[in-house]
Amino acid sequence: MNATAFPPSRGSVTLVGAGPGDPELLTLKAVKAIASATVLLVDDLVNDAVLAHARPEARIIHVGKRGGCASTPQAFIEKLMVQQALTGETVVRLKGGDPFIFGRGGEEVEHLRAAGVAVQVVNGITAGLAAVTSLQVPLTHREHAHGVVFVTGHAKPGDPGTDWAALAQCAHQARLTLVIYMGISSAADIQQGLLQGLPAHTPVAIVQHASLPQQRHAQATLGELCDTLSVHRLGSPSIIVVGDVLQGLAAAQSASMAAEPDAWPVAA
Ligand code: SAH
Repeated sequence: MNATAFPPSRGSVTLVGAGPGDPELLTLKAVKAIASATVLLVDDLVNDAVLAHARPEARIIHVGKRGGCASTPQAFIEKLMVQQALTGETVVRLKGGDPFIFGRGGEEVEHLRAAGVAVQVVNGITAGLAAVTSLQVPLTHREHAHGVVFVTGHAKPGDPGTDWAALAQCAHQARLTLVIYMGISSAADIQQGLLQGLPAHTPVAIVQHASLPQQRHAQATLGELCDTLSVHRLGSPSIIVVGDVLQGLAAAQSASMAAEPDAWPVAA
């Protein structure tokens, strides 16, 4: 089937990346999918402004915490998607950022395929990319970073999670930028682990609400990460960036945080 076709009359599910927050960062393909949906299942971090592209008669269901799902929200959402698709609905599952970056999109695709539901995926701009771009910092740079690692600070229950010391050694040797999602609540462990392989003076930046009017950021060194988070009261959703690509941030930006969000260099 043509990847751009979203047939209105046959049940299907399209996982759509709604981007980091700024509704202008939606792809054209995402807009088309939203406009053709009869049912939209909307995740917590999706900006409701993107729903302006939905048909007036479309059913909009907020899932995730804001939607008040019970203790097994993921199972509930997967069941709902299958149920709606099998009754002939054109379902769009709107997810923050990109559906395949820490969005459980892989699990959802597997579940839908197993249930015999036609599924498509539309990329979105992932928060880590938007966060760094909003500071006008590149993720890779011929002088500073040969690659980039997207990594989560949050493991599922029972999983020991990321080996930060090993990752730091690898990042140091291979000159990689680290882009850490969901890292705020485990920032102390992350900082302690990374300091085992990266120098304390390695630049870090924390970007909260990337691409949105309320975006804030702070720049520091790895040795100052946790202090900086608490001094500036930065919380979720935030991206923590670690690496020498941040050396390029202007000294004036690194000195302090502006009181007004508009003063921050939010990408157009
Ligand atoms: N699929 C999403 C990530 C989902 S995990 C994506 O591709 O962006 C949720 C985490 O993403 C948050 O805890 C936070 O670390 C990050 N995040 C999402 N939106 C963000 C934003 N606007 N600014 C900063 N971080 C964000």
